[in-house]
Amino acid sequence: MKNHVQESSDSEILKDRIREYALKSGALVFGVASPEEISKRSPEGHSPKDFLPNVRSVVVIGGGKMLAGAMRCRDPKWVGVIGSQKLRQVKEISFKLAEYIEELGYYAIPYASYSLANGIWDPDISIKLCAELAGLGTRSLAGGIVLNPKYGFLFYSIILTSAPLKPDEPLKESVCPHPSCVRMWERNHTTPCLKACPECLSGEIENGRIKWMKYNRLLCYPKANWSRVGFQKALLDIINESDPEKRKMMVLGSRFTSLVSALAYSIVSAQCYRCTSVCPVGREFRAKR
Ligand code: SF4
Ligand code: SF4
Repeated sequence: MKNHVQESSDSEILKDRIREYALKSGALVFGVASPEEISKRSPEGHSPKDFLPNVRSVVVIGGGKMLAGAMRCRDPKWVGVIGSQKLRQVKEISFKLAEYIEELGYYAIPYASYSLANGIWDPDISIKLCAELAGLGTRSLAGGIVLNPKYGFLFYSIILTSAPLKPDEPLKESVCPHPSCVRMWERNHTTPCLKACPECLSGEIENGRIKWMKYNRLLCYPKANWSRVGFQKALLDIINESDPEKRKMMVLGSRFTSLVSALAYSIVSAQCYRCTSVCPVGREFRAKR
């Protein structure tokens, strides 16, 4: 029978192997959150064990760093498409990683925020909470997105697994506000992200820390999410069309087909990236010649 020291060293070796595979597969950051800690902070029915009864660890990966050019693109629709593609890349890595964990002999489920309620994303498990607990970043004034201290804005995905992995610690220091944002706040009572989107974002900084913040998701989502809004409008036009032939052409036409395909392949984005493109955290990765 294995003693405690042997078990903990086995767990470290296992975690190193999984981390190495994740990073080799394209993840930029990797961490592990404790399912118990997630449950303590989650409403009923939103805990990892509600999805995988014998879950022992929640692996969190982050990646999909936005193309620097996309952050400067003048067409928000296209920026949304690029962002969705980046999100998809991270999801694909999480599926590969889950398969790898199963090859190592443990149950694994990749989990993505697919749930919709009242027309908006409503994930069953908070991926932001998992990323914070795994020490990958902290929430920001820019819509509460989790900012990684090195890369800034990233997409995150999680894998629930029965593999016993030692959880990481949450970061001790908040990534947001950046020191330059604190100075801007002291001068002008605003920050780059608040200034970029005063309609959706509000908040205050006090003593160099976020005092409060508010994110108007219901306003941001339709503003940033062009494909869902486009789909709803096109569908309404089809319903209101009384001529059966014209209606048929509208359904089979290229515009409606591309909107349906965008939805089917999750080419939807609740980010137009104006708020994140001005954020100084991770700027060195977005500065190109
Ligand atoms: S994603 Fe766009 S609409 Fe949403 S908060 Fe950021 S800047 Fe505003
Ligand atoms: S711009 Fe400044 S205040 Fe806004 S999210 Fe980035 S670090 Fe935080």
